[in-house]
Amino acid sequence: MSRPTSLRVLKFGGSSVGSAEALRRAAAIVREALPAGGLVVVSALRGTTDHILEACAAAGAGDLASAQTHLAALRERHREAATGLGLLDTVEAPWKPLLDRLDQLLTGMAMLGEATPRGRDAALAVGETLSAHLAAACFQGTFQDVREVLRTDGRFGKARPQLEALRAAAAPWREALAGGALWITQGFLGATAEGHTTTLGRGGSDTSATLLGEALEAEEVQIWTDVDGVLSADPSLVPEARPIPRMSLGEAEALSAFGAKVLHADSLAPVGRAGFRLVVANTLRPGASRTEILPAPPLRAAGEVTSVAYKEGISLLRFPAAAGLEAPLDAARRLEEAGALRFGLIASPAGTLLAIRPDTPAAAKALDALAASDLPCESGWAVVALVGEGLRTDPLAALRHLAALGQEPIGGLLTGSSTVSIAFLVPESRLGDLIPRLHDRCVTCSQEQP
Ligand code: ADP
Ligand code: ASP
Ligand code: MG
Repeated sequence: MSRPTSLRVLKFGGSSVGSAEALRRAAAIVREALPAGGLVVVSALRGTTDHILEACAAAGAGDLASAQTHLAALRERHREAATGLGLLDTVEAPWKPLLDRLDQLLTGMAMLGEATPRGRDAALAVGETLSAHLAAACFQGTFQDVREVLRTDGRFGKARPQLEALRAAAAPWREALAGGALWITQGFLGATAEGHTTTLGRGGSDTSATLLGEALEAEEVQIWTDVDGVLSADPSLVPEARPIPRMSLGEAEALSAFGAKVLHADSLAPVGRAGFRLVVANTLRPGASRTEILPAPPLRAAGEVTSVAYKEGISLLRFPAAAGLEAPLDAARRLEEAGALRFGLIASPAGTLLAIRPDTPAAAKALDALAASDLPCESGWAVVALVGEGLRTDPLAALRHLAALGQEPIGGLLTGSSTVSIAFLVPESRLGDLIPRLHDRCVTCSQEQP
């Protein structure tokens, strides 16, 4: 079997394929980066996934009229983008059965009065596939359905990849891409061995790209988005956040695990296993700075913090010491199985704290059931993390930054597992004030060091 030694995988997020103009920009990047073929992964057009989820919720509540209003808006939006590119005639044929299927799925949900996780994933697949057909036409490549290769388990809404099956199924893709094909495929989707469509969790297209990069033995995966690479903080809270030109895999893992949306939390594991280069760049400004994620850490000063991340929507479950370890472990397992993200599980002789974000409707239901028992459950918390290789050599630097903030109500300190991050829990309402102050203290000081 020939090995595609220089294969590149490019991924364009929703904002990079949100309009005719954005798609034209993406096409120029594809031409430049993949002159001899390669794989392009695209997300649904910006806002589409939210639209489809709202349509499913309306249909599941029996309100078919409002679900169909969403569907009409979706159809119009896509037609507008295709018309702007002069490609409506080309995509109408592959789009028709997809839009009909979405209509049927919504009608079925309205009749049942329920949007099941499996039905929702099937509906979400339509948004990703509409976009991949349009991108294939725009980039002059060939559409391939990612569900041929991206095998997952059956946890609808937050499916886990099955790596061996994925690798085996990807063999024909490796051959074709080594032969110079330019293929365009969907992000976010997978399929079970029985052929049922699954999704990888919100923002999961980054993970699609890195999983495919691993299975296809790519030398580089490029994530094209709407910021100049990975920044020192979320620009919506810290407008002066700066791009980080080089970061270690450990820093990127901690940053994404603690909420920086620019890279999906599951997207770094394939990079660790396969060792390809991962680049994050801006579709709006391809010539601007970009971030390279390196297996070997770049040089950082002792105590240097490179970025500040956060995630809101966290609930805390506090188990008394008498509950032992079984009850919290069982709760964590059940919540995660339902698709919740676990941000901390800390046990001490005084009791156990479980910090969890119920990311799927099933997880929210499981959390409600636990909270309805006698267990103290507090919602409205956020996790804040300071991330930097410099914390390996001076872990107390993070605590000094924290102490300087004065009297903040801290819900718990989450530390120990990562040597390049320290995280702590704060009330959600404090984020808008705390993140810019922490960023100023940590990152600006670090960058000014000689
Ligand atoms: P895409 O649609 O391309 O997948 P996302 O919206 O998922 O894009 O991720 C990019 C966004 O992540 C940025 O627009 C920015 O608002 C947000 N973000 C949060 N934290 C960071 C960070 N540390 N660096 C860069 N972007 C961040
Ligand atoms: N379209 C999906 C979402 O909005 C996947 C992605 O954008 O990565 O979550
Ligand atoms: Mg994203």
